[in-house]
Amino acid sequence: MRRRLASVQTGATIVSGVLVASDERMGAHDPTPGHPESPRRLHAMQEAVATLPAGRVTPIACEPAAADTLSLVHERSYVDWMLALDDTRRQLDPDTAIGPGSVPAARLAAGAALAVTRRIVEGPARRGVAIVRPPGHHAEPDRAMGFCLFNNVAVAAAAARAELRCERVLIIDWDVHHGNGTQHAFETRADVLFCSTHRTNFYPGTGDASETGHGPGRGYTVNAPLPLGADDALIGAVYRELITPIADAYRPDLVLVSAGFDAHADDPLGGLRMTDDGFASLCGLVRDIADRHADGRVALVTEGGYDPATLARCVTRCIDVLAGGEPPPWPEPDDDAAPAIAEYVRRLRRIHATTWVFPSHGPS
Ligand SMILES: [Zn+2]
Repeated sequence: MRRRLASVQTGATIVSGVLVASDERMGAHDPTPGHPESPRRLHAMQEAVATLPAGRVTPIACEPAAADTLSLVHERSYVDWMLALDDTRRQLDPDTAIGPGSVPAARLAAGAALAVTRRIVEGPARRGVAIVRPPGHHAEPDRAMGFCLFNNVAVAAAAARAELRCERVLIIDWDVHHGNGTQHAFETRADVLFCSTHRTNFYPGTGDASETGHGPGRGYTVNAPLPLGADDALIGAVYRELITPIADAYRPDLVLVSAGFDAHADDPLGGLRMTDDGFASLCGLVRDIADRHADGRVALVTEGGYDPATLARCVTRCIDVLAGGEPPPWPEPDDDAAPAIAEYVRRLRRIHATTWVFPSHGPS
């Protein structure tokens, strides 16, 4: 990545543009030929970002995450076990395998999320993207799962709390799959608010709307399971009418995004119908939350998305929005669909009304 983007990096003091952390070595994770989570995904995103106008992005270096940092989220025994598997081949679960290059790639993926998070917290740059693989949000504290080895966004959030003096971290997970690992890492805590939209009755099977957190974390897990075929209008309503009011009440001082693009209509696995414009609008909504509460500090960490061309388009659209571009307006639902969407949002609001107060206008 540093080499691919060298033409736009003219000096170490550049702080303008969107910070982008990535690394060629994440492409070395390729244990199963034909696997949908392929190196092509990474290369498509990197090559697309390299075509952006000079000044739009600022590449930053990343280092492999240290064992101590990974252990902020993962059990130390799991971290040590995984690091000891370096340079070996092993099937970790039915979907997840490692080979030579996989463990360094996973450490770099977490390291890229950390690098962007550290830089935007320290400033003066305020917006960043970690273009990474393997993805992270299914990785549990004690095991790999669903293509994920270490939970990149969770490690970044935990480090922001433990090491960077952030007090309230909002994680938005817009990947089509539920971020089970991230939820489980933080579901007993109020200092990290986890909000996820994902397809219902789909891998990994968690993320029911009734899962709202436990103990001190009760109310700080927000799940919006979406029906097959959900489109920009429905997803936009969830973000505008449910997640935005909760985020505004929470007032995060850092916003992180598990930015999968497998809810796109062109994705071969996801089954939802988001568009390029929908992701740009969604990124704009998240950017605006960060602007209102977090001094603009927002970082996207890539997750799933299995059509490389779609990934490339959506990542660059999001970077344009993070750089200050005007996102397209959300589409209004069709008259036929509007009542059902309003009722769906009302039902979700009722679940969370014990913790959060919603504005009286709109669905109630
Ligand atoms: Zn996914």
